[in-house]
Amino acid sequence: MRDPTSFLKSEYDDLVRQELEWKLRVLGGPSTPWCLVDGKKVLMFCSNNYLGLSNHPKLKDAAIKAVQTHGAGSGSVRPIAGNMDLHRELERKLAAFKEAEASLVYQTGFAANAGLIPQLAGKGDLIISDELNHGSIIDGVRLSAAERKVFKHADTEDLSKVLDEAEQAAPVFRRILVITDGVFSMDGDIAPLDRIAALAHDHGAMVYVDDAHGEGVLGPGGRGIVSHFKLPRDRVHVEMGTFSKAFGVVGGHVSGSQDLVNFAYNKSRTWLLSGSHPPAVVAACTAAVDVLEHEPQHVQKLWDNTRYFKKAMRDLGFDIGRSETPITPVMVGESGKAKKLSSRLFDLGVFALPIVYPMVAQGKARIRTIMNAALTQEDLDFAVGAFEKAGKELEIV
Ligand SMILES: *Cc1c(COP(=O)(O)O)cnc(C)c1O
Repeated sequence: MRDPTSFLKSEYDDLVRQELEWKLRVLGGPSTPWCLVDGKKVLMFCSNNYLGLSNHPKLKDAAIKAVQTHGAGSGSVRPIAGNMDLHRELERKLAAFKEAEASLVYQTGFAANAGLIPQLAGKGDLIISDELNHGSIIDGVRLSAAERKVFKHADTEDLSKVLDEAEQAAPVFRRILVITDGVFSMDGDIAPLDRIAALAHDHGAMVYVDDAHGEGVLGPGGRGIVSHFKLPRDRVHVEMGTFSKAFGVVGGHVSGSQDLVNFAYNKSRTWLLSGSHPPAVVAACTAAVDVLEHEPQHVQKLWDNTRYFKKAMRDLGFDIGRSETPITPVMVGESGKAKKLSSRLFDLGVFALPIVYPMVAQGKARIRTIMNAALTQEDLDFAVGAFEKAGKELEIV
């Protein structure tokens, strides 16, 4: 008999042959600026823990305390018996932070996109998505019965054309939903959300922004992209985000009107059918929101570090792409060379991963660095020195 599982090995072997399989590194301790990766002490340059909050004493204390008062698990999904006072407190504080009427917490950002998008648009509707949107948005859109169109990356002229065409369509679309990432994670550029929201408003379309890399980073106090552009709250109908990046924990969320939240929790299958966060997670997320409200210095330091690093890298002659945020790609070009640079940097004590085809186009391979507020100037100089040495050896600069 033929082994029905033989594809498992053959497909994995194919990935290995093409050098596309994930080689997992092991973190032997907390995600701090200097951390232990595969047993070696290196400088962390690729975590999403932008503000260093994953090791903030207030978050750790809140998690420990919540285990003592509420236990290790929530016991259920939220609609049945897993809706604790801790979940409600987090949503209240998050809504206040986001200056929104209401917020809803999901298990992850992926679960928010996969659960909500297919409910906002279905049969007879149209979803218009930026071509570089995150994979969790793409999967959310795939779960919808709506028609789909993409617009060219951050290109509002193209979006305007797609919206005009949609208006002429027969039969007319019941609803139109425009979705974009706030900050694009491969290049670090910011979506032109002001112009997107204006176009959507002119065409009576809804706007959904995934601000996973913008929260804790953009806008006053790290309130995200809607605050960054000073947009009226009613021009962006769904502000989606994650607790797994700048907030330093794990979890997804959406903010907007109370009507949105009422609709979302009653309809999102990921929210209804999957267990709720354990107390430690929820309490740590709430503490993260408190820290952002009361300690603005972390966001300030993140940007000071970002400016310092970008300038030093540019001065050395590195091409750092079109980034406007703490995500700073160091462009290399060819995949093999990007991998060599990453591995040489690791030898020199800097942990930063290569991003290669198919995650980015052929010839656009890069090292993606992500800045962190907990890095000192000494750390940054150390990293820049390693980039200089490795970059010269590989004839990149
Ligand atoms: C990381 C990320 C997500 C997923 O968030 P999780 O909470 O980690 O599931 C969604 N969208 C974007 C743009 C992201 O960068």
